[in-house]
Amino acid sequence: MRHPFSVTSQRGCVHSMDSEATRQRIWSAAVLLVLVQLFAGCATISQINFISTQEEVALGRQFAEQVETEMKMYDDPVVQAYVDSLGQLLAAHSDRTNIEYHIKVVDTDEVNAFALPGGYLYVNRGLISTAETESELAAVMGHEIGHIVGKHSARQLSGQIGLSSIIAIALGDSSSMVEQLVAGIVTTGALMKYSRDMESEADVFGADETYRAGIDPGGMAAFFGKLLELEGGRTPSGLEKFFSTHPPTRERIDKSNAYIAQLPFKAGLRKDSKRFQQIKKRLPPLGSGK
Ligand SMILES: [Zn+2]
Repeated sequence: MRHPFSVTSQRGCVHSMDSEATRQRIWSAAVLLVLVQLFAGCATISQINFISTQEEVALGRQFAEQVETEMKMYDDPVVQAYVDSLGQLLAAHSDRTNIEYHIKVVDTDEVNAFALPGGYLYVNRGLISTAETESELAAVMGHEIGHIVGKHSARQLSGQIGLSSIIAIALGDSSSMVEQLVAGIVTTGALMKYSRDMESEADVFGADETYRAGIDPGGMAAFFGKLLELEGGRTPSGLEKFFSTHPPTRERIDKSNAYIAQLPFKAGLRKDSKRFQQIKKRLPPLGSGK
C-alpha cells in the first residue's frame, strides 16, 4: 500500500489543472507530516534516558529518603551486612559499576524487592525467609540491580512525568511528587511499572551478574517454579506484589532458561552458602507479626 502523503505530493508535482486545490492538499499533507513526526519524536524521546548519572543518583536519593521515612528498615546489622555484601558482589559484576550501590533490608513479611534510580536497592525480610537458597535470593536481587543497570525507572519516569519534573525532584524541589510516587511503592511494590522489554532485559542482566559472580544463575526459575508448584499454580500468599510486578509466565521462565543455557559452562557455580542459611535462622518466622 502506498503512503497517502506520497500520492498527494506526486499529484501536486505533476498536474497544474487545479493548482490552488492541489497546493492546499500539499500544504495540509505537509502540516500533517510534521505533526506525525513530532508525535513520533515524542514517543521515541520518552524511551530515551536523557538525565545524567549525577541527576539520576540525586533523584534516587530523594526517593530513598522518603522510602526510609515510610518503611521500617530491618535493624539487625548481621543480616544487613550479609544482604549488602551479596548485593555489592552482584553489582561489582554488573555492566554498571560507576555508581555506588546502597542496599537495605526492609522489615516486612511481604516477599518483594525493589530498585530506585541511581543504585538504591531494597530487599524485604520476607524475601530472604522465602528463598530456599542463596542463588534464589541472588537471582531476585540481580534482577532488581538489572533495572538499575538498564536505568529503567529513570526512563519510565521521564516518559511519565517529564524531564522538568525529574530535575525538580533531583534538586529536592518536589517533595509532594516524591511522596506520591513512594506511596505507590507501598501499594504496588515497585516505583514504576516496567515494560515487558525492561523485565526481560533485567532478567538477562541479572543472569549475567549472578553467573559472573560465581553464583548459579538458575535461581529465578527455581524460585518461581517451586513456589508455583507448591501453590498449584496460584500466587502464594505474601507474594502478590512481586508476582504482579513480575509475572512468572511460562514464556518468561523459558526465555530466561534459554539465555542461561547458552552461557559457557563454568565450574563451581554455587547454589547455596552456609552463611545464607545462618542468616535465615536469625529472621523471625513469617507471620509472627515481628
Ligand atoms: Zn523487574
